[in-house]
Formats: sequence, structure tokens, C-alpha cells
Amino acid sequence: MGPQTMIEKLGILADAAKYDASCASSGTTKRNSSGGKGIGSTEGMGICHAYAPDGRCISLLKILLTNHCVFDCHYCINRKSSNVRRARFTPQEVVDLTLSFYRRNYIEGLFLSSGIVKSSNHTMEQLVEVARMLREEHDFRGYIHLKTIPEADPELVHQAGLYADRVSINVELPTDAGLVRLAPDKSARQIEGAMGKVKSDIVEAKDAKKRFQHAPRFAPAGQSTQMIVGADAASDADIVGKASRLYDSFGLRRVYYSAFSPIPDASAVLPLKRPPLIREHRLYQSDWLMRFYGYKPAEVMQATEADGNLPLDIDPKLAWALKFRERFPVDVNRAPKEALLRVPGLGVRAVQRILASRRHRTMRLDDVAKLTVSIAKVRPFIVAADWRPVLLTDRADLRALLAPRQEQLELFAA
Ligand code: SF4
Repeated sequence: MGPQTMIEKLGILADAAKYDASCASSGTTKRNSSGGKGIGSTEGMGICHAYAPDGRCISLLKILLTNHCVFDCHYCINRKSSNVRRARFTPQEVVDLTLSFYRRNYIEGLFLSSGIVKSSNHTMEQLVEVARMLREEHDFRGYIHLKTIPEADPELVHQAGLYADRVSINVELPTDAGLVRLAPDKSARQIEGAMGKVKSDIVEAKDAKKRFQHAPRFAPAGQSTQMIVGADAASDADIVGKASRLYDSFGLRRVYYSAFSPIPDASAVLPLKRPPLIREHRLYQSDWLMRFYGYKPAEVMQATEADGNLPLDIDPKLAWALKFRERFPVDVNRAPKEALLRVPGLGVRAVQRILASRRHRTMRLDDVAKLTVSIAKVRPFIVAADWRPVLLTDRADLRALLAPRQEQLELFAA
């Protein structure tokens, strides 16, 4: 076989990067126009979306430097024992691609990860070299997200943070036992050690910036991580507990969840079926509850069922409210913000609007209905000027009444 063209390499290395959830958009049906019919595709890889520190949604070229790897993580299609087509970019090729896509206005930045070639240090040097060339030789001002390798020399990880806007280190699995079993070359201690070092580098850089105007910046968009869901026996309660510890210990901006997907030539230790995508969605909703709705991790865990998993038919906020019905109904004209945020169906923006409106007038059920997608979901849990849910909250079949018939994958549903 002759040398691979850039297009072939791009096809392989953009496809290989799709398993990283750091800017995932999953949950839609597959469509494409490869047969010459129509235009557009929901399957194409290579450009993903992320949020910049100022809140803008930006497009990133999302690729691997290489999908060769000397590690053998069971859940990974790029592991050394996997029978996939391999490719490798040079740092110069990644720089050229990024610049040419940027100039054509296809992208606003780069998301770069890699399998491990030769050694962790060698690979990390190559990743850093891409970011260095972009920043120093081309004065690239776009967004850069670098996946870093926890086993690499901490000085190399530090250099990554000097050039990148965001760095991430994947914890991979929710439990240490899962990591030992499924990623035998990785160590939980090393991963968390590297995250701790990145956290202290970020804090130091922020302090220095306050004192010296020209102090170097370090990963100004912070650090994030990813956990694979459904490859081991960890329950949602385990996952929520781990995510909350990571947020607290390492000041993470985001924990991403990636539903395990069966891969060709899968190892026998892996499940044969992928977990339902809705499980990944429920975990994102629980993450939202902790970050924006004031729920403590232990409260999210209270929403789980006997097996430790969040229900799939209803969202975790509704599950919690159904378990703690004595906390409802909440009076929309008097209740504090924290209590309103617990009402199923009321999002953060709706609560803000209720708080603002009720300063001027008394809220009726119709007023609340204008602020929510489903007043049927909200009604059993609130009191308004003209509404009180007589015995509704006590009904044994309330869950069945409120569970959506056909699940909607609306990521930001409250
Ligand atoms: S180190 Fe990364 S690329 Fe290599 S097998 Fe493990 S998860 Fe895959």
C-alpha cells in the first residue's frame, strides 16, 4: 500500500477522535449524502463544537495526532491489539491543516488528542510542538484544546497549558477497580496527580496575572475530563460521586460522559451492548443539577433507584421530587429561589423570571405556563394565586402521569 494522502489520514484521524466526548453532540439519527442525494450529513466527523470562555459556541477541528498506541485499553478502538487502519500526522501537518481550515473560516480552533506512540513523553512533546508552532510561529489566536497524557513528564504538561486555552486529562473510568481491569497501563494515582498539578498551575498563573500584567497565561479555559459510562459495572451513583469529587478536588470546568460503544474486535471483558444513550443524557442532567440548581451530590444520588442508577424514563430532578413529595408544593409567589429551582419543569431562566415578575404582580398558573415547556409537569409541584394541587402530589400514579411518552433528548431540559 502506498503512502497515505492527507485526505485519507484526515478521514482516519478525525473518525478516531469521535470517541472523545469533550465536545460531543450525540443522540440524533444517522443521515448522509454520500450517495449523491441531498446535502449534509449527521455522521461526519472532524469538526465539533465547544464553548469558549466568553460563552461563544465555536467550531473546532477535532483530530488525533495519531491513532497508533502502545497502550491496550480494552474499551478503545485505537488500542495496540485493535485491528484498525492506522495513520499519523506530523506536527507540521496538523499546523498546516488548522491554519488552512481557519483561513477558510471552517473552524475557530483545534481540539487535538493522540494515541501514545513510542512513549508518553514523545507523544506529549509532539502535541506541545503543534501548539507551540501555532502560537509562536504563526501567532495563532484561535482556541486550542489539548488532551494531555498523565504519564508524561509534568514539565511537558505544563508547557501544554502555556499554549492551550483548555487542557484535559481523561479519568476514563469511574472506579479505580474499573481502570485496573480495563486500562491496565494507566494509573488512577498518576491521572489524579497530573490533574492536581494542572489545577495548581492554573491557580498560580491567575495569581501571577493579578500581580504582573505580562505574566504568562495558563489554560485560561481551565481543565476538563471524560468518563466512559457502561464499560464497567459502576452505577450512576458511583459516577456522580466521582464527578463531584473531581469538581471539588481539581476545580474542573466540565466532566464529560461518553456512553461506551462496542468496537470491532472487542475484548471479551467488555459488555456486548452499549448502554442506552439516554443514560449518558441523565448523567449530564444530574451534572446540571449540581452545577446550576444547587443539588448536593448526595441529593442526586437520592434520585437513583435500588440498583444505584438514575431512572431512564424520567429526568433526575423529577425523580428526586417524586421521592421527596413532602417538600412540595412550592408557592411561586413566596418561595425562595432555592425551593423554586427544585420544581420539576422550571429551568434556571424561568425561576429568574418568576422572581423578577412577582415583584410587580401576583403570579397565576397561566403566568407560569408561559415560562415553561410543560405546565402539566410543573402543576403538581406549585401553588399559584389561582392554583393549589389538591392531593395531586400524593397520587401513587403521578410518575406514570408525568413520564414523557416518547423520550426527548433535550440536553438542557430542567
Ligand atoms: S492510551 Fe488512549 S489511545 Fe491508547 S488505548 Fe488507551 S485510551 Fe486508547
